[in-house]
Order: sequence, then structure tokens, then C-alpha cells
Amino acid sequence: MTRMRVLVVEDDPAVAEPLLAGLQRNGIEVDHVVYASQVIAAAQNVDVVLLDLGLPDGDGLEVLRELRRNSDIPVIIATARGDETDRIVGLELGADDYVVKPFSVRELAARVRAVARRRRIESNLESGRLVVDRTRHLVTVDGEPVELTAKEFDLLAVLAEEPGRAVTRQELFARVWDPVWIGTGKTLDVHVASLRKKLGDAELIETVRGVGYRLAVESA
Ligand code: CA
Repeated sequence: MTRMRVLVVEDDPAVAEPLLAGLQRNGIEVDHVVYASQVIAAAQNVDVVLLDLGLPDGDGLEVLRELRRNSDIPVIIATARGDETDRIVGLELGADDYVVKPFSVRELAARVRAVARRRRIESNLESGRLVVDRTRHLVTVDGEPVELTAKEFDLLAVLAEEPGRAVTRQELFARVWDPVWIGTGKTLDVHVASLRKKLGDAELIETVRGVGYRLAVESA
């Protein structure tokens, strides 16, 4: 998986510099802009936006309003301590979360990951002909619904989170069955066999010998 990328919108170098360095230390890639007028274009290339509200050429809340007209990218606003109105208006305008200055980089990194994860869970997982709609608990191949059991669905959803990533048997057991599940492992293979059959394409789920399974990467 490519690394998480955050757009930091912050005009104060004393805040921005340690923040950028800190996020990178936490394994997060960063883009940085200073002006409100740069945000819309720069937000195209990132997973999450961290938005300072007091910018030299405009109000961050206006930027957020503008951004929300055509994008559902996760936005975390950075507000001053005690600025409750900004926080409330920001959340009403569609911010996903907020941090109060001064905040720690570790806290921010955790929040960045949390909003990105939440957004991923809300959205459909798509890979080529396959769509896994977690909200409606529905799977389609080439637009045709496929009937799956609850376990088959959960298994496919984990694999579809990151097509191409080899997911270990341990992870699949932990996430689909039980964190302390102990067994022969036959159950997993039986479910995969059944999934392949129901999806009508045995090559959609690839066996990674000695590791686990992965969803084949397909072009749409
Ligand atoms: Ca500022």
C-alpha cells in the first residue's frame, strides 16, 4: 500500500516545520501549503487535509466550505484553544475531526489514521469487476449481485481493502473469526474455495503459498 499522504495547510512556520518533520517520522508523507487559495488544487493529491483556520489570504472555514462542494476528502481542522465556535462550525461544514493547538504530532498522526480508516469503511471497496459495498452488505461481480454468507463476506471485505496485498492466515483468522481462534486452518481454506466458486472466478483470490491469500489486482 502506498503511504498515507497529508496536506498540511499552515502559515506559521514555527508550527509547520516541527509538524511536517513529526508526521514524516510517523510514516506519513506530507504536502504543505500556506495560502487558502492553494488548498483546493493541492487537496487532489492527498488522503487527508489538516486545515489551519487562520490563513493569510482567507478563512479556513471558507476553504472547507469550498472544498466540500466537490470533495469528501477527510478534513481535520486545527483550532485555537477555547475557540469553540470555530470547532462547531467546522464540524457542521463537514470537517471529520479537529485538533486544538498546541497538539502533539502523535495525537495528530493517530487522528489522521482514524479519519482515513473511517472513510475507507464507509466507502465501497472496488477492484476491477468486483465491488464490496460494506454499508449495504452487498457484493457484485460485473454488476451482478453475489450471495455470500456473513463469514464469506467478511473474508472478502478484508482482502478487498487492499487488492494485491498478501493477507496472512493469522490476520484473516483474527479479523474474520476470533482473535483467539485456534484451529487446523481448514475452515479458512473451505471458505476461500466457496468464495471462489460463488464469485465465478477462481483467479480473483490468489493463494500466496506459506503466507495466506490476496485479492488479484485487476484493471477495471
Ligand atoms: Ca494561522
